[in-house]
Amino acid sequence: MLDLEKIRAEFPILQQKIQGKPLIYFDNAATSQKPRQVLDALQQYYTSMNANVHRGIHTLAERATAAFEETREAVRAFINAPSAEQVIFTRGTTESINLVAGSFGRKFIGPGDEIIVTTMEHHSNIVPWQMLCEEKGAVLKVIPINDAGELLLDEYEKLLSERTKLVAVVHVSNALGSVNPVAEVVRLAHQVGARVLVDGAQAAPHYQIDVQALDVDFYAFSGHKVYGPTGIGILYGKLDVLEAMPPYLGGGEMIKEVTFAKTTYNELPYKFEAGTPNIADAVALKEALAFVNQLGQNQIAAHENALLAHATQAVADVPGLRLVGTAQHKASVLSFVVDGLSALDIGMLLDAQGIAVRTGNHCAMPLMQRFGLTGTARASFAVYNTLEEVDSFVAQLRRVVKMMN
Ligand code: PLP
Repeated sequence: MLDLEKIRAEFPILQQKIQGKPLIYFDNAATSQKPRQVLDALQQYYTSMNANVHRGIHTLAERATAAFEETREAVRAFINAPSAEQVIFTRGTTESINLVAGSFGRKFIGPGDEIIVTTMEHHSNIVPWQMLCEEKGAVLKVIPINDAGELLLDEYEKLLSERTKLVAVVHVSNALGSVNPVAEVVRLAHQVGARVLVDGAQAAPHYQIDVQALDVDFYAFSGHKVYGPTGIGILYGKLDVLEAMPPYLGGGEMIKEVTFAKTTYNELPYKFEAGTPNIADAVALKEALAFVNQLGQNQIAAHENALLAHATQAVADVPGLRLVGTAQHKASVLSFVVDGLSALDIGMLLDAQGIAVRTGNHCAMPLMQRFGLTGTARASFAVYNTLEEVDSFVAQLRRVVKMMN
């Protein structure tokens, strides 16, 4: 069993009051809060080792480089990548996906080629592909979903052909909570020789990720949703495809030799890491992953599942409330609408009680269109949330609904 009191004590931000009420932070799918060990790592980095990486021979440069590369190894272990050179630092999931579109897409996607996404993608896993398709004359296809928010795999199979070059699929939907059958999506894509990119932004905080077991070609996630800092993210790729891809950004660090006649490029992963990276936040990310590992991903998932089950049951008889996203396999996201009430009103009235939920389209407008909505209210849970918080949230929600009707 997790010791929630002890866990919560590690998060200074949770100790404060909002609008005079104890903060209940249920906006974890947007970004999670940071434990003390992450905050301390940031402070320690700047007070004891700040220097640019890979370039200096002085002591601080060696310290910074060692700490930076230690995180790469920690990420490798976290997602079970075969080697650390397959772990590329980016600013976040969005940049990781854009890197693949800008590099893999530039080289391997041509006129008439097809890219498949799903109805439930975040804009960051739609727009880069649309931009690429526009530039290359390629075609974007979309896997439909059912009313519960589950992928229709039969329809997916029908979309696949030898024209399919890439399938880009979200592992866990930020707006619905649906957990997609990624291994099966990958298996079917590989049958037609397509590559698969998985957007793991919402999966990495909740589940043990094994990129080898999933057999994905690319896996992207953000540090800030896994209790780490903002501005640091990860792109994992299979070795053969990363090696075949051209650089994304040009500049320092990504080169081997530069002359005005010709430039040769650095090896992996540096080929994709032009310029000074976000060293401090990378170093602190190691502590975020250590925090998750110390608690145990299975324990975290079990706790969050219990919160979700409790919340789902508790809101069932709130008058006029309808859940959006009722997939059989669901992560800790409770998205809902209430008859006669806008999501914005719900969010503002809950905020007045110190409860932070997200409202709107969750950067998934096509998904909202699929459900005939402009937005939902969304409560999303993390390891430091408690059953008591869920009860307070539901009680306040009932009060809000009663008051407005
Ligand atoms: N994909 C999903 C499913 C997300 O939930 C998010 C963030 O909300 C992103 C991608 C984009 O992540 P970031 O803004 O960290 O790049």
